[in-house]
Amino acid sequence: MAKTISAPRGTRDLLPEEAAAWNRVEAVARDLSRRYAFERIETPLFERVELFARGLGESSAAVEKEMFRVSGATGSDEERAEWALRPEPTAGIVRAFIEHGMHVRPGPLRLSLIGPMFRYDRPQAGRFRQFSQWDVEVVGDPGPAVDAEVIELAHRFYTEVGLTDVVVHLNSIGDAVCRPAYRQALVDYFSVHIERLTDDSRRRLQVNPLRVLDDKMLAADLTEGAPKSADHLCDECRAHFRQVLDLLDTLGVRHIVDHRLVRGLDYYTRTAFEFVIAGREGQQQALGGGGRYDGLVELLGGRATPGIGFGIGLDRVVIAMQEQGVSLPQASDLVAVVGFADDHADRLRVAGQLRDAGIAVRPDGSSRKLGKQLEAAAKVGAGWAVIVGEELRTGLVGLKNLHSGEQDSVAVEDVAARVSEGSALP
Ligand code: AMP
Repeated sequence: MAKTISAPRGTRDLLPEEAAAWNRVEAVARDLSRRYAFERIETPLFERVELFARGLGESSAAVEKEMFRVSGATGSDEERAEWALRPEPTAGIVRAFIEHGMHVRPGPLRLSLIGPMFRYDRPQAGRFRQFSQWDVEVVGDPGPAVDAEVIELAHRFYTEVGLTDVVVHLNSIGDAVCRPAYRQALVDYFSVHIERLTDDSRRRLQVNPLRVLDDKMLAADLTEGAPKSADHLCDECRAHFRQVLDLLDTLGVRHIVDHRLVRGLDYYTRTAFEFVIAGREGQQQALGGGGRYDGLVELLGGRATPGIGFGIGLDRVVIAMQEQGVSLPQASDLVAVVGFADDHADRLRVAGQLRDAGIAVRPDGSSRKLGKQLEAAAKVGAGWAVIVGEELRTGLVGLKNLHSGEQDSVAVEDVAARVSEGSALP
């Protein structure tokens, strides 16, 4: 036998047994995008490395270590070094916003996509090299009402997919006015404790001191004792944050102000948030996160435009649904079409009529005994069997409920109604 080939490390196949959970999360994401008036956008899965280097900031982990570079088979060395698979969607969406002059459209723009992201990270539980995100972005709205609206949207998503106990942790990391002084306060504080920092944090302290706070290897007392950005906000940022918190209270969204939440990306301003399962903070990676990026459009060459968005990691959501035992009712309205002898033309014709009526149909393509065909139908999850036989000449088929065993003669055109009525029963 030939040697088998396995999937690349850090990637997963979506097998049919997981499809119900994935269908649920994608359907909820699409439906919420519609109900919250977000329009669909798609951007390429790969972009110029420079877009991410500029958009994410050279010092962020996503650029430093995790960029998944791709190259064509031909072309000059420069061309071949130019591309990276997208690690996150915001930079690509903002590039498209600028490239297509979307600032002239009636705004604020509300854009959303579902698709794969790539990070060349060390794979581990819940951390993959290819994973799927539902992303929403509002470009052109300075908030704070929209900040609360998108946080409430993400919160509603977790509830509607069936997860319980998801809480939002949030913080305000200030803006260009107040962040420099806060940065300096962090540098002063951590410089005093330099001997307790990891090598990684010493480096972060040089390039991006805020990121020392999310070094998970540091002792808790060290990060808890660090200056808090909420204490260093300018008046505008403080008022903005206060309003976001008040609006979340009004909307009944459970939230926790988390001073260590700084987000890894340099373009974030003010509101930053992350969703985790309550009581499992720390041990478990976030189910989603986002924030305000008022500096990004300008950084990428557009005119200054505020923005806010989030990315929800759908793989982790599906894993959490499995852990919480979220029930996913199996549709029992699948119909198998079975028959006697070699009457495949009749079976396929009846299958076609049922499909015309919107029913999901699996015709049995074998010539085995009827009993075997019925057993096989039940095994693949059909709730019903349509038995095609002699009586088809008078327009009738047998309709067997595979759960109760009851059977009836029914006109072909009545099958659809009977199946949808019946499938509503437990
Ligand atoms: P981030 O942009 O890093 O905040 O990512 C947003 C969300 O995407 C996270 O909260 C996770 O739910 C998900 N996510 C990020 N990286 C990964 C990964 N390597 N594997 C699976 N999900 C991820």
